Amino acid sequence: MDVLKYRIFCATEGINKEVILPADVLAPTTCPSDGTHTVDPSSVVVVGKSQSLVATDADGALLARTKQATKGWSFQARGCDLITSKVQHSDPTINMTDLAISTFRPDGTGWGDITVTHFDAAGNPLITSDQSILDSQCVTTWFDWEPDYDYEIIGGNANIAAGVPDVRLWIIGAPYVPSSMGGNVTFASGINLSAAEKVNLDGRTSKRLFYNPVYHSNMLRLMVVHPVGAKAKISLVWEHYKS
Ligand SMILES: [Zn+2]
Repeated sequence: MDVLKYRIFCATEGINKEVILPADVLAPTTCPSDGTHTVDPSSVVVVGKSQSLVATDADGALLARTKQATKGWSFQARGCDLITSKVQHSDPTINMTDLAISTFRPDGTGWGDITVTHFDAAGNPLITSDQSILDSQCVTTWFDWEPDYDYEIIGGNANIAAGVPDVRLWIIGAPYVPSSMGGNVTFASGINLSAAEKVNLDGRTSKRLFYNPVYHSNMLRLMVVHPVGAKAKISLVWEHYKS
């Protein structure tokens, strides 16, 4: 948008005033400070012209902030409920309130982009569909979120019910990409969800993560450490920009 800077002599105040207006509107005829002031229309002159990418009002003040996301992308808060030490059901439409992972599109179908992995106290994965094994051995649960789209992560928040034992959260970005390649980034480290019950994670600015099914470069891993077999339900909201 082209803008013009005008100079106007205000006879009432006896001084020059400047005002920036879009080039496609009429030149100002009044004092920008007070419309009742006396202004000689012949004193109005253009003293500057520029292209501006920002919207301004009659005083040249900024109306809108700089864009954050790329063209056509919009903000979306993605909610998901995660339950630790729980076998992941193969059919995400069953019993929505009692799944290891619940995250749904507006039409009710599951996003299906989070996988769960369980570990025992020795750090060995518990590859099993037997819930009783998880009940007696699982002390760490990973939730790997890997949407099949590019996005910019802004932050998020995690909620947990009051009164549950210590449940600690780590978030690792692109865990399979080496640090030297910009991956394996720790976004959250050892946060005790039980102490706060609600944790806000604000990245201050967005960070773009590109989907790649081979390198898993947009994967976010939630590592949750909890008492043996604990069924801690974490309600998580990812704040991100997506197309
Ligand atoms: Zn004036």
